[in-house]
Amino acid sequence: MEKDRLDPWGSGTVKDYSRLRSEFGIEPVAPLLSRFKKLSPHLSRGIDFGQRDLARILDAIDANKPYAVMSRIKPTGDFHLGTKMTADDMVYFQSLSKKATVFYAIADVEAYADNGLSFAESRKIATKNVADILALGLDPDRAFIYLQSEEMRVARLATIFSRGVTNNMLKAIYGERQIGLYMAALVQAGDILMPQMEEFGGPKPVLVPVGADQDPHLRLTRDLAARYQDEFGFVAPSAIYHRLMLGLGGDEKMSKRAEASLLTLDDAPKVASKKAMSAFTGGRDTVEEQRRLGGRADICPIYDLYRFHFAKDDSHVELVYRECTKGIRLCGECKQEAAGLVKKFLEEHQRKRDSLMDDAEELLASGGKRMLSLRKR
Ligand code: SF4
Repeated sequence: MEKDRLDPWGSGTVKDYSRLRSEFGIEPVAPLLSRFKKLSPHLSRGIDFGQRDLARILDAIDANKPYAVMSRIKPTGDFHLGTKMTADDMVYFQSLSKKATVFYAIADVEAYADNGLSFAESRKIATKNVADILALGLDPDRAFIYLQSEEMRVARLATIFSRGVTNNMLKAIYGERQIGLYMAALVQAGDILMPQMEEFGGPKPVLVPVGADQDPHLRLTRDLAARYQDEFGFVAPSAIYHRLMLGLGGDEKMSKRAEASLLTLDDAPKVASKKAMSAFTGGRDTVEEQRRLGGRADICPIYDLYRFHFAKDDSHVELVYRECTKGIRLCGECKQEAAGLVKKFLEEHQRKRDSLMDDAEELLASGGKRMLSLRKR
């Protein structure tokens, strides 16, 4: 069988999550679930499947000690449902303790290296991205939101790290890539380790919620944390990995690279619901076959819409899965229901998001100073 290759800049999906454990050392989340007071939908539905050193974050929560949650968005377009998954994890892990601080990087350096987008273009897109995450529930008073290209601490760390890596080391992790992407990877290592600098309270556990395909960045950063441990006292960053959601075409992960398969948080609700209605499904060729053999929810992007985002609760996800695989549910009615849920969510989200655009602009303009000033009170 062809091995899953983890490419943080690609659009492929992962076919066998259990292999990620044996090949890359990603540990399962399940043994730690009993330590959470309340599970997020990602945890209870098996969407967050893997972790590295997650226990360190749970220890910090239990001891009421500070920890950081770090993530980033590449500002190349509207927030889509794949990006929303990382945002949902950030909001959840921020909510677990008053001692949690979120660091959110607008990855304009990476957008330039990977997509050729100018910093000015990225800046324009970023405001809406930030308003989206605020509307999804991020507490801005415990969040440091910044543009990579303007954050000198990150640039400094990336420069320092560049002396600690060789071309061969980067090639072994990422394959043969252009220098700009290697550089963006070092900048991202700077993003992940910056929360441990003195001005943010010094070394502490940092959790990075990511899609499984982003693991190469984690491996590089954990390696760098160990190499620079003596100098900075870094604690190796922890990670929680979520499954990759299928795009509406059913063959690739939902990503900005596969536009036809994309559902964004800025789609007009009616357009989004039409997209859901014309998505690929795991249904059979005829009604008779579907009744007899059941649908294939495991390869169905409509099922992913329920499971990853829009089901009312866990029992609703279970109901859709059971009815689908037993041939009780047919694709037409199933898509209709999913399309209705998408439309309702977008109407509410966009109303909230639009009312937060000024706050988002203010946060970006302050370069994260709002959180620093609150810390000094
Ligand atoms: S019944 Fe629903 S979940 Fe099952 S294959 Fe059809 S659209 Fe997908």
